[in-house]
Amino acid sequence: MTINLWAVNTSKNFWRLRDPVDDSVWEDAVRRALPVLRLNSTPKDEGELLELVLGEGQFGNGHWELSKIRRLYYALKPFIPRMLSRALRQLLQSRHQRDFELGWPIEERYPRFQFEVLKNVLELTGRSSVRFEPFWPQGRRCAFVLTHDIEEAKGQQFVREVAGLEESLGFRSSFNFVPERYRVDRSLIGELRERGFEVGVHGLKHDGKLFSSHTEFMRRAARINHYLKKYGAVGFRSPLTHRHPHWMQALEIEYDLSFFDSDPFEPMPGGTMSVHPFFIGRFVELPYTLAQDYTLISVLGETTPRLWLEKVDFIEKYHGMALVNSHPDYLHDPASLELYRDFLSTMKARSSQYWHALPRDVAAWWKNRADSRPRGEMEGEGMAVAVLKDGQVSVEAGHGALSYAPIS
Ligand SMILES: [Zn+2]
Repeated sequence: MTINLWAVNTSKNFWRLRDPVDDSVWEDAVRRALPVLRLNSTPKDEGELLELVLGEGQFGNGHWELSKIRRLYYALKPFIPRMLSRALRQLLQSRHQRDFELGWPIEERYPRFQFEVLKNVLELTGRSSVRFEPFWPQGRRCAFVLTHDIEEAKGQQFVREVAGLEESLGFRSSFNFVPERYRVDRSLIGELRERGFEVGVHGLKHDGKLFSSHTEFMRRAARINHYLKKYGAVGFRSPLTHRHPHWMQALEIEYDLSFFDSDPFEPMPGGTMSVHPFFIGRFVELPYTLAQDYTLISVLGETTPRLWLEKVDFIEKYHGMALVNSHPDYLHDPASLELYRDFLSTMKARSSQYWHALPRDVAAWWKNRADSRPRGEMEGEGMAVAVLKDGQVSVEAGHGALSYAPIS
């Protein structure tokens, strides 16, 4: 039997009410909310539910295995001309998109489910409101996090440009380096950190073979752990978002960025349906919740940040986390950089709504929040309040901030 890596992410632990409610009430509330998820199978308990949703169990047993054809593709890739390789990748992608089972770009069921569970708890206990540990500090409605993967040397050369743009608008981000693909610029790492940015690790070689076998993964994980220490990094994103939650427990990280709420365009499509951080065994997962820059611009041909901003609206409604993954390699293109600038400028104007933080700070916050005792009032953050009104739950963030999020 394998360990359930998602078991701690119960609704009870998600909401962290100040005044506890019986476990039997939570169980009942979860059962009643199940239809919202419209899962293909009915989980026997909440643990199984979490494996199906956050653990992507709904996509079947072989979900973490790279298909034979894909393994062959990565083995041959160095010998395939670039254009043919792109065509093959798109062919593999379109096959996945046709069968894709989640909503995209917005998959609303899981956040809706979580609010539905709380509504049931309020109804079952005859309350009209409850106080709970706020999702985010400073009374903010949601979190806003910027991350980057540096694919190649050309991308690394453009990092200062991207960092400068973010800095000029009051933002900071994390940059994930590939340790054994290009010569990593150590002075750049030091400089980024000094300027308030974060540095993380993006795989080892970025050759599609990190997960080719368990033995190979463990061999490379040791190298990755070495580079994490060397760079003073605590975060990781897997290249091509290849991922295996059980194997990845060997990584000595505080958080991971390899999962997402919903994405049909990745080599391993799927999604955790979550727009909040959650735990996968030993680390905090910060799923990316906005489409990747490459998908938005090159696959969908978008020329404005419209889709990103619509998704932020959705995430804000559920007090979640808007997390972007973009690449200096692609932002190098002037039109892409302009779109990114446009997005950041619009977000800057909305800055009172969200908590802007580095991924490592968000992970630390989420871990602290999960500590056994509600800390909100002790640390002066104030408790958040959930109110039941007309059969719907709305949430007011901590600090007495006025925010109202009706569930449609
Ligand atoms: Zn990459």
